[in-house]
Amino acid sequence: MKTLEEYMALASQSHGHMCPGQVLGIRMAMLGLKSLAIEDPAKYRKRLVTFVEIDRCATDAVSVVTGCRLGKRSLKFLDFGKVAATFVDVETNRAVRVVAREDAREKARAMFPELSEPRQQQLAAYQAMPDADLFIREPVRVRLSANDLPGRPRSRVACEQCGEGVNDGRERRVNGRVLCRSCAGERYYETVTNDE
Ligand SMILES: [Zn+2]
Ligand SMILES: [Zn+2]
Repeated sequence: MKTLEEYMALASQSHGHMCPGQVLGIRMAMLGLKSLAIEDPAKYRKRLVTFVEIDRCATDAVSVVTGCRLGKRSLKFLDFGKVAATFVDVETNRAVRVVAREDAREKARAMFPELSEPRQQQLAAYQAMPDADLFIREPVRVRLSANDLPGRPRSRVACEQCGEGVNDGRERRVNGRVLCRSCAGERYYETVTNDE
């Protein structure tokens, strides 16, 4: 594992700026890895899966530290709106969930009253605060199906309505038909004609 400073340099490069959320994300991931006794995340590419619960700054930093990526199926995004992440060693089935404490902002303010901006207070404090003041950590169990694991697709079918291919068991069975999620009623977009 690299140091906080090294990760901060890497994270601000890939995220475009440094911010309190990223410091939280970096430290959250470092704590998660430490809890699973993972010293070098690069050696765990095949067995580390991370669930992130928010699509904000912290998540980018979690990805930098763990090496887990959406495109490799090792990063799973769940839209819960929480600064939290769960780190799973799929080989041992050990997992730990780390969530940022609600009172961390208050503590940041108390720690650096000389800084006027909350953002500056948080940026400084989140680097200095002990893990226990920043996070709550709990061992958990995550049941991952074969269809969720990294590696080659486990299956691929064509939707009987639109014909588009669907990987890894994400199809739905509706009245005896195999449908993609869109055609099964979960479509998130509307088709528009060119002149609209
Ligand atoms: Zn940011
Ligand atoms: Zn379809």
